[in-house]
Amino acid sequence: MEFQPVIGLEIHAELKTNTKMFCDCLNNLDEEIPNTNICPICLAHPGTLPTINKKAVQSVLLAGLALGSEILEYSKFDRKNYFYPDLPKGYQISQYDEPLCKGGLLQLFLSNDLNENQKKIQIKRIHLEEDTARLIHSQDKKSTLIDFNRAGVPLMELVTEPVMHTGKEARLFAQGLQLVLRTLDISEADMEKGLMRCEVNISLSENPKEKLGTKVEIKNLNSFRAIEKAIDFEIQRQKDVLEQGEKVIQETRGWDAEKEITYSQRLKEEATEYRYFPEPDLPLLHIYSKDETDGAFDLNELKKQMPEMPWVKQERIKEKYGFVIEEANVFIQDEELLNFFEQTVMAFNDKQIKDKAINLAKNYLVSDLKGLIDAESISWKEIKITPESFAQLILLLLEEKISSRVAKDLLIEIVKNGGKPNQLIKEKGLEQVSGESELKEIVKEIIQDNPAAIADYQKGKINAIKFLVGQAMAKTKGTANPVVLEKLFEEELMN
Ligand SMILES: [Zn+2]
Repeated sequence: MEFQPVIGLEIHAELKTNTKMFCDCLNNLDEEIPNTNICPICLAHPGTLPTINKKAVQSVLLAGLALGSEILEYSKFDRKNYFYPDLPKGYQISQYDEPLCKGGLLQLFLSNDLNENQKKIQIKRIHLEEDTARLIHSQDKKSTLIDFNRAGVPLMELVTEPVMHTGKEARLFAQGLQLVLRTLDISEADMEKGLMRCEVNISLSENPKEKLGTKVEIKNLNSFRAIEKAIDFEIQRQKDVLEQGEKVIQETRGWDAEKEITYSQRLKEEATEYRYFPEPDLPLLHIYSKDETDGAFDLNELKKQMPEMPWVKQERIKEKYGFVIEEANVFIQDEELLNFFEQTVMAFNDKQIKDKAINLAKNYLVSDLKGLIDAESISWKEIKITPESFAQLILLLLEEKISSRVAKDLLIEIVKNGGKPNQLIKEKGLEQVSGESELKEIVKEIIQDNPAAIADYQKGKINAIKFLVGQAMAKTKGTANPVVLEKLFEEELMN
């Protein structure tokens, strides 16, 4: 008996607006002092009235347009009634049957496997709601404090159709969506900080097209790794249950990241009754009208403002710079890296060497410069090297005016203190020495100083020559051309 897993996602993202969803309190998620950004509206005092944040609505419309959703001409807010201490009003203002966006799809694009990138994931809807307050439980678990700074922060919810089949597909979807939200600049979408939160629905059945199996929900997934691992674990767990002839229980499960298992949190006996009804304190939202005479938004204008989407960027840089998919994926996920690279490329004027220079710049940028930035945890804004001096460094290397060792040292120096490579190599005497007559003297000295290595070489240990080259490199502070050195040592020792 073969069981097929079917997976759907519900993803919440906190939107980057100046103020909250229905009041003018600051939407500042970095605020550390509890209950600072609060007012009678977001605390739900009697007699207060909400007003709609236009920027938040626009943010969701942008997401919908980027994902090819249908934007509804009219949309409305509804009350979702439930009682919980983090919900001051006793209901959440959300959207029920007329969300801002219906349908749409996101084609997976972040896999290094081109076949996996073909898969199109259908989206069911995208709507707008408000976030809840944050509960802080004391360590002894005897008391709970409430911080209302987050209450009323605009929250986008995206629901996919149940069309995914593996943990990896779900992870690629979530990563792709994060990049879309960041590209549109509508959410930081940082999972570790809880700015993007993912819930998974998963069921197994023999024939999902005819009948879906019992649905289990997984919550508390705060990394992409957790999404993939939790789903793969859950598929195996449900398979085991079904193969033993037992039934999967409809429930909500949590993810234990340390043990890498899901665990039962609470049973879902029946669908919760939220008693949705239209929010009476807010007007029906007229989003746009087809003849553009009325409506709060001009969709054509919004489309014009749309930045280059990551999958378009991916194709462009593959084509323009000859990147393979792995390389393109590194660059589209790091906007600052790509900007730095593209400015570096602009500094390469000579058409003849351009391709070689681009290739070398790409390798040095990904392995050395990005490596340095990550290792020292400095930001791109803090580094003192400009794309122009980086380009100069690459050209010096390409023209063999400096050795790769000098290039790596210089890179660190300029990142920290700034400066122009052309000037620095003159000041510090770092130009590569390739002249045989100049290097011959050094080769002779090294041979004289290392009789043991010479004896080894003459006994047939060819590798001894590498040691000698290393000695000569050290003596010349890395400025000697190692290829020329090796040739000279060979010649000297033959005689
Ligand atoms: Zn407020």
